Amino acid sequence: MATEKVRGKHPVEDLLYDRLVDAIIDKHLRPGQHLNEVKLAERFDVPRSRVRRVLERLRDEDVVVFELNRGAFVSRPTTKEAHNVFETRRHLEDLVVRLACERATPEDIALLRENLRDEREAFAAMRSDVNRVAANFHFAIARISGNGVLEKMVAQLIRRCVLVQSVYEKKSGILCLSEEHGSLIDCIEKNDPEGAAHLMAHHFDHIISSLDLTEARRAEIDSFEFI
Ligand SMILES: [Zn+2]
Repeated sequence: MATEKVRGKHPVEDLLYDRLVDAIIDKHLRPGQHLNEVKLAERFDVPRSRVRRVLERLRDEDVVVFELNRGAFVSRPTTKEAHNVFETRRHLEDLVVRLACERATPEDIALLRENLRDEREAFAAMRSDVNRVAANFHFAIARISGNGVLEKMVAQLIRRCVLVQSVYEKKSGILCLSEEHGSLIDCIEKNDPEGAAHLMAHHFDHIISSLDLTEARRAEIDSFEFI
C-alpha cells in the first residue's frame, strides 16, 4: 500500500485521527479490528509515538480499546453500551435541533441543503462515503447549535453510534434517511423547535429499529476476518 503523506499545514496527528475516524465511519475499519501501530506509522509516514497518541485519544473517546500485550483494537460495544450511547445521543440531539432552530443563519440552511444534495447523490450512486455524508448532517446541526460543549459531546457519540451500527445493524444498509434529514432542515429553517424535536425522535426510532441489539448479533462479529 502506498505511503500516505499527511504532513503539511495541518497537525499530523489531527489528520491521522480524521483518517481513522473516516475509515470507521466508511466501515473500512470494523469493530474488533486490530490497529497495528507499526503499520499505521509506515502507511501514514509518521513516527510511531504520534500514532500512539492518536490511538490514545481514540481510546479516551471509547472508539479504541487497548488490550494488554496485544495492542489497540477498534472498540466492539456491548449491548448495554449500545443502549446507553443511543439513549444519550437521542436526548442531546433533541436539544441540538431545538437550538439549531433558534440559531441557524441562512448560510447554515444553505450548507445543510448542499449536504442533503450530496447525501442524495451518494445514496443514488451507492458511494462508499455515504455513511459519512449522512453523518455530516448530524455533525452540522451540532455545530449550528452554537454550543461547543454540546457539539463535542454529540460528535463523540456519533462516532460511537457508527461502531454500534457496524456491530448491530440488521443488514447492511443506510440508516440515516435523507428524506428525514430534508424534513428536519425544513423545520430548522421555519424555526419550529417542537416540530423538529418530534421529527428527530422519529428519526431515532427509525435508526434504533434497524438494529438487532442482542448478544447473539455481537457474537457474530467474532467471525469477521481481521487484517
Ligand atoms: Zn440522520
